[in-house]
Amino acid sequence: MFNPQELKKVQAPKEKEVDEILKFALTRDLTLGEIKKLLFSKPEFWEKIIETANKVKEQFFAKQIHLYVPVYIDSYCINDCLYCDFCRSNYKCLRKRLTFEEFQKEVNYLFKRGYTKIELVSSTDPSFSIESMSRFIKYVRLFVKILFIHNPPNKETRRFAKYTRSLIQDRVGMNSRPLKFEEYEKLRRAGLGWSWLWMESYAKKYYVKYHPKGTEKSNFEARLNSYDNMGKAKLNIGLAFLMGLSPNWRFEVYSTIAHAKYLKEKYKCEIEFGTPRFCPPKYAPLKKVPYPEAITDDKFRLMVALYRLAVRNSWINVSTRETIDFLKKLWKGGGNLTNPEAQTIPGGYSLKSKGAQFTHYSYSRNLFISEIKKLGLKPID
Ligand code: SF4
Repeated sequence: MFNPQELKKVQAPKEKEVDEILKFALTRDLTLGEIKKLLFSKPEFWEKIIETANKVKEQFFAKQIHLYVPVYIDSYCINDCLYCDFCRSNYKCLRKRLTFEEFQKEVNYLFKRGYTKIELVSSTDPSFSIESMSRFIKYVRLFVKILFIHNPPNKETRRFAKYTRSLIQDRVGMNSRPLKFEEYEKLRRAGLGWSWLWMESYAKKYYVKYHPKGTEKSNFEARLNSYDNMGKAKLNIGLAFLMGLSPNWRFEVYSTIAHAKYLKEKYKCEIEFGTPRFCPPKYAPLKKVPYPEAITDDKFRLMVALYRLAVRNSWINVSTRETIDFLKKLWKGGGNLTNPEAQTIPGGYSLKSKGAQFTHYSYSRNLFISEIKKLGLKPID
């Protein structure tokens, strides 16, 4: 499925061919062959690709930009990824595992602020049991249920029910270590709708380079195969590579799309594309982005557009790893899921824990919402 040789002989398409492909994009998902061509198109055609992606997004999501908020639940980790401050050899990191009561406090605080879509984030902490995760998930699900009873989702939000298996289940996502099928299934039964896992790099050579130690994450194949466990457990799936870790950005984008199409086809799941771009850690060894030329803003925008054209009804998450000015371009270019605030340490909101997994931004919710509205878009909780 992920063979760099496949991209070796692709020729840059002429403008007429780009236009023809973009016409198809208005009526169906582009094929991998078509995506390959657009990936090699000249930069002078990128704006029209991005404009088409925006039109396609509006076909499915109108002017809506959906909001979510990440909630970190633990920061103990058995891995040693070179770019992450949760790596086990970093003795300066605050290590914390939220108790259920602390978790309730964080979630209540965020719900009061208006969020209804929560991304639980867990590091690779085997002591954090599936039972505890299930309990946390059940709590979020119950809270959303009660919220929807008192404040039923409006017509516009309900419109997305046809893309999601359940409006409530859709509110709960989790980015965690790779799990077994039975574990994912247990979490889905508890109320999990989405499972997100970043592949980091589809190029094994680079994957191995940045995950040299650690009992779990250094296994490229095991990580790749765990997506199938999510699919079998009937979860919707989020996937991404970490931009900047490897030089061949076209290969990474192409592989992410090929993987998403495979999962969608095989498991009939919904797809979310993550777009994490390398943000320097404070203490972990890899302080600078290894391949800055592989993650320029133009390439980033093209990537988001291609994700949109390849899986037209997908969710494309553009996060506070980016500045608000750049996010505005991504909201207009295919992205439809975003987070105003971000604390990347357990207890970062209501408990005021200090620390972070990497450097990132966090914006005032009001400012963020007003910027979305200024663009003629509609923020949706
Ligand atoms: S990226 Fe994930 S697995 Fe790697 S050190 Fe950080 S928390 Fe652990």
